[in-house]
Amino acid sequence: MVAKKFHLISPYELSEESRWHLGNLHLHSTHSDGVFSPHELRDIYMKKGFDFFALTDHNCMGDQGNNKNDPEDRAYVLDLDVPPNDINNPPHFIALPGYEFCDVKSTSATPHVNCIGAKTGRDGVHRPSDDYQGAIDQVNLEGGFAFFNHPFIDTLRGWDFRYLRGEDPLMILRGLRGIELVNTGSIYYRKERKNPMSYGLCAHLWDEILSRGVKLWAYVGDDFHKFDEEIPCNALNVVLTKEFTREEIIRNLKTGNFYASTGLMITGIEVMHDTIKVVTDDIADFRFIGFGGKVLKETKEKETEYKVKGNEVYIRVEVSNNLPVFDDTPELRGFTQTAWTQPIFIE
Ligand SMILES: [Zn+2]
Ligand SMILES: [Zn+2]
Repeated sequence: MVAKKFHLISPYELSEESRWHLGNLHLHSTHSDGVFSPHELRDIYMKKGFDFFALTDHNCMGDQGNNKNDPEDRAYVLDLDVPPNDINNPPHFIALPGYEFCDVKSTSATPHVNCIGAKTGRDGVHRPSDDYQGAIDQVNLEGGFAFFNHPFIDTLRGWDFRYLRGEDPLMILRGLRGIELVNTGSIYYRKERKNPMSYGLCAHLWDEILSRGVKLWAYVGDDFHKFDEEIPCNALNVVLTKEFTREEIIRNLKTGNFYASTGLMITGIEVMHDTIKVVTDDIADFRFIGFGGKVLKETKEKETEYKVKGNEVYIRVEVSNNLPVFDDTPELRGFTQTAWTQPIFIE
């Protein structure tokens, strides 16, 4: 018997003490074009069971918004944390600083990049760099990370990042950690149009990128501004951390130790020497996907395993149930709750 000549590169670090924490990474407050103050947004997300979020106002963070005369609105983003009840309890809620970078000279087709974990002072002005690469480099230097938002917000133009310089962005931008695989706000906002899902779900683009050997994680966001236009609390980044601190959440989101979801919960991801095992808390449809978006295995179970052959290049797992993400929106009944693991690469 010939020994296997490959090994799996997994972003998942599982340990007995690790816990899953739910967070949203794309939100707008009154500091840019949202209607809720940061405190109101925190309360909306906390009530729905979220453990953290990142505020991502357009080109501004925390106290640099438009409503400086309103003391409630001036709150710096870190003041939104809900602290632990006592020393043995972890904090109930953590707010991550961030912003959504867009070129101010932009048109609607200009790309948006979320910079999460960017640093700013309480009363200092955070000055996003005035170019994409500068914004990405800066947030990486500050210990945070950047990902490319809503790649298909305008499906007529396709991948709007190409508008940067009419070139392939992955060849010209360095340091991006991922793409926004699902922007639930874009889907809901365009619910009455033809193929509404294509405005905010880009799994095929992700497979195209991964198949070229570019390692990008999938992040998801609500892009919530106001009710009627978007619905909050549908995009979950489920992070595995030993300690529930701002630094640990950011670190694990940056290294891929999380999965993306629109409601379905994965309870276990185990990567052994040639096997990938995924567990959920109810029977669901599993799809193991590899190079070129090829479905390698499909099954309906509560937990399932895939034996790696070695030529898949990468393997990611999608798990869906038949519950709609938006319950009372008939146009979107086909958009059912799904969870996406990060890719596991084969080397
Ligand atoms: Zn945007
Ligand atoms: Zn946005």
